[in-house]
Amino acid sequence: MVDLKGSSLSKPDGSQKTGIVGCVFNIERFAIRDGPGIRTTVFLKGCPLRCLWCANPESISPTPQLLYLENLCTRCYRCVEVCPNKATTKAPDGAIKIDRSLCKACGKCVEICPNKARQISGKLMTVEEVLEEVKKDALFYQNSGGGVTFSGGEPTQQPEFLWHLLKGSQESGIHTALDTSGFVKPEILKKVLEHTNLVLYDIKHMDPAKHKELTGVDNRLILENARMIVGMGKPMIIRVPLIPVHNDSQENIKALAEFMLSLGLKKVDLLPYHSLGKIKYQRLGMEYQLSDLKPFAEGEVAKIKADLESYGLQVGVG
Ligand code: SF4
Ligand code: SF4
Repeated sequence: MVDLKGSSLSKPDGSQKTGIVGCVFNIERFAIRDGPGIRTTVFLKGCPLRCLWCANPESISPTPQLLYLENLCTRCYRCVEVCPNKATTKAPDGAIKIDRSLCKACGKCVEICPNKARQISGKLMTVEEVLEEVKKDALFYQNSGGGVTFSGGEPTQQPEFLWHLLKGSQESGIHTALDTSGFVKPEILKKVLEHTNLVLYDIKHMDPAKHKELTGVDNRLILENARMIVGMGKPMIIRVPLIPVHNDSQENIKALAEFMLSLGLKKVDLLPYHSLGKIKYQRLGMEYQLSDLKPFAEGEVAKIKADLESYGLQVGVG
């Protein structure tokens, strides 16, 4: 039995939740882009990759985090008074300063802020609490051929929590999909696939060095795991975050198509770059590295889609 332990978390305020607990940063009901039919997508926190274009920077840290919405702040300084860790202070020019290394995401400033200028991203939840949410739309899943999708972050970063969520969903008759970067130890991946009906598998670049430059890790483990999943007979759809300049070259598209064909895979979804996540970087005090990157011009994605289709692949655009 692979050891999946490591999901026992305590709340930032020190109190404990009993049972298997994980950190969830969003539960999206009626999702239609994360697998077949109508789905609930559960986003787990924590990711070992650092994709330059990441639209969910709040997913990277495995624990809850404070977001500061400066545009809503009226500088009443109540947060400065209430912070027990001196993480929030008043700068000489009157601005609000947050020292992220001191912030424990205790939420005290969120409670007191009169303008909702502060939020905590990431909630500690038990397996039962998540499943309760997921089961609310069981009827919609049945009628549409949908189910639940576990995404992230990289959901396998919370392996024990994930395994129980997948198992509990299947035991309730709910179709399960796992959205993964594939950057995970093969033994953990195998274990969570025991209760996974469909794998949504992200491939960011086919070249190991370029992959490392874009995401912080090379892609050999990812490509090996893809082969393993196919060998296990699991249905898999490839997903490609399509980023202008960085991974849209003809050479990369050709390498992707050839890799898919070598595995007998037919379905690929393209997820064209957008900069909607940019504002979140500011709210988290993080730097957005693709500030100058322009989204695709009209027709460019259609051309890449046609290129992939010319290899006999079925291509969706999300
Ligand atoms: S969440 Fe707010 S009150 Fe709590 S430590 Fe962070 S800045 Fe201070
Ligand atoms: S409590 Fe809210 S509105 Fe007041 S200074 Fe802090 S963030 Fe701004």
